[in-house]
Amino acid sequence: MKEAVSLVKKSQRILLSGHLRADGDCLGAQSVIYHALRQLGKQVEVMLPNAPDNRYGFLEAHTPWTLFAGTLPPADLLIVCDCNQLDRLGAMGDAVLASGLPRIVLDHHPMAEDHGWTACVHDCSAAASGLLALDFAAALGVENLPVEAHEAAFVALMTDTGWLKYSNANAAAWAAAAKMVEQGVDSARIFDLVFQQAEIGRPLGIAAVLESLEYFADGQIAIAWASQAHLEELGGSMEDTDDVLDLLRSVRTVEVVAVLTERAGGVVKLSLRSKHRVDVNQVARQLGGGGHARAAGATFAQGTTLADAVAKVRDCLLNVIR
Ligand code: 5GP
Ligand code: MN
Repeated sequence: MKEAVSLVKKSQRILLSGHLRADGDCLGAQSVIYHALRQLGKQVEVMLPNAPDNRYGFLEAHTPWTLFAGTLPPADLLIVCDCNQLDRLGAMGDAVLASGLPRIVLDHHPMAEDHGWTACVHDCSAAASGLLALDFAAALGVENLPVEAHEAAFVALMTDTGWLKYSNANAAAWAAAAKMVEQGVDSARIFDLVFQQAEIGRPLGIAAVLESLEYFADGQIAIAWASQAHLEELGGSMEDTDDVLDLLRSVRTVEVVAVLTERAGGVVKLSLRSKHRVDVNQVARQLGGGGHARAAGATFAQGTTLADAVAKVRDCLLNVIR
């Protein structure tokens, strides 16, 4: 943390980024840091590797972002939020490496020893990167963040903890949530913006995924998937699978859930969740991805068919459940 603070203090143009398909935590953490750095008089730009889900569009009103299109803007420092591997930034990660920019990581995922970051704001026990961003703002001496920053931190916290349901929702998370509401965050408004603005095709997208559901190992493993063609046929959109994952995890016998969906261009995305004992981060790593012990994911290499991906995931899960 100390090194990160001194790096920020001596930098003037600061670039913020995060992982591909930035989620609520990634965008929320960026937004908190954006507001903190602006208060310190820094020039700040947020550049994302690609477009996030529409549900987070409202954050852009106070934390404008641009999308990477081959070149990085001029900067003397980069801060990457909510992931600690540059390959999670896709092509933007290659540009970062080539630029030689000093880089700070702000993240709560397990990190490799030889990580290559110039400085770290890192704590695996933090429920969300957004909470680390608040700690970082405080360490930078920023005391009065605007309500927009608290809202963004609230989005981060609530999306990564499933509205404080998941096992990462520790006392610090609950206390932070209460503080955010005290600071003026309208929790019902945020719930509406993030969770009640889905496209009209979403219920049928969910139905398409549920249609394929299969259980293995006496109901301990639940696997469901949907092809892009099937989703398109139904007009169903399935960018985010959290509610399906929650539903499958609600089954008494189930310990681990895998949901696979085909994305535009045929790329297969995997989401994994577990209840008590399976470390899905380890499973995801075997498949080229990563994450946390109870929530992880992977993106299969271009050319891997949905059927191949489903078979691989099933084999990995059957191995770990034994
Ligand atoms: P989700 O299933 O909601 O997309 O992601 C859950 C967790 O898995 C997140 O913490 C995220 O960091 C991680 N994750 C999701 N997709 C990928 C991926 O393609 N690669 C890696 N390394 N991690 C992922
Ligand atoms: Mn996160």
